[in-house]
Amino acid sequence: MVVTSPTVGVLALQGAFREHGRMLSGLGAEVREVRLAAQLQGLDALVIPGGESTTMGKLMKSNGLTEPLRRFAVDHPVLGSCAGLIMLSRRTAEGSQPLLGAMDITVRRNAFGRQLHSFEGPVQLRLPGRPAVTFPGVFIRSPWVEQTGPGVETIATYEDRIVGVRQGNLMGVAFHPELTDDNRIHRYFLELVAEAPRSNTVETEVA
Ligand code: GLN
Repeated sequence: MVVTSPTVGVLALQGAFREHGRMLSGLGAEVREVRLAAQLQGLDALVIPGGESTTMGKLMKSNGLTEPLRRFAVDHPVLGSCAGLIMLSRRTAEGSQPLLGAMDITVRRNAFGRQLHSFEGPVQLRLPGRPAVTFPGVFIRSPWVEQTGPGVETIATYEDRIVGVRQGNLMGVAFHPELTDDNRIHRYFLELVAEAPRSNTVETEVA
């Protein structure tokens, strides 16, 4: 039997990238930190972590990553959390800032109230093909998704707000699954990665 372990990049310009790396490694992925366009070479998928989206957009630009990331997202799975979801979006309710525009969604930044810096609450997670479950939502100055275009599925809600979406191989959540010990979202993402065409594969022979 051949077991393949995907190579997953974690954008490491700023924010909670180490925690994503830890969770993905724990699930058997080969993890690489990405700071430069050349480091996208050979990756099967990418995670864009939380942080601060205007800062992240500026760093993407100054590191020459904006266009390479846009191209990468066309044909590779990408998971964004919080600021990562904002970066994946086509527009924000607040106006213009540098975005990748890969997902046909409008997000509202800091949507749960500026004073309410962080909170935890039960997210209803409806991953395609699975029963609905509750997921521990860690929200830190999180956005919500205000509008979705055709082809965008809602995969997570908190109260009546959309906090998780999927469009083909692209996934975004407004909360921080990497800050919990619940790996169901990362596990689902790695299943998407396993089903997507592979650009580079590390194969391990298992007896
Ligand atoms: N409020 C941040 C932004 O607008 C996102 C917060 C986060 O990623 N935890 O970019």
